[in-house]
Amino acid sequence: MKTKTVYMCDFCNKEYNRSIDAYKCEAEHLGLTIDEYKEYMNLLEEERRAFSAVSSVVNDEIRKRCDDTIKAVFDFQKEHNFTDNR
Ligand SMILES: [Zn+2]
Repeated sequence: MKTKTVYMCDFCNKEYNRSIDAYKCEAEHLGLTIDEYKEYMNLLEEERRAFSAVSSVVNDEIRKRCDDTIKAVFDFQKEHNFTDNR
């Protein structure tokens, strides 16, 4: 039996056979290049990690890390002139 993986764009739910194509679709919705979108995804991932750390232990360092990630994501959106309504 073969299994098939389908990648779906977060914004328009269009399906792709390759993850890179779904990435590209999402990047286009935000008006970003694929490299810019990858950079943005890394920021969101760091934001997510910082917030999961804060739920177990709250201290000033982690709180600062959270604030920094929010600012990094916000600055990136501002710099590239888009909003992400997901
Ligand atoms: Zn799309």
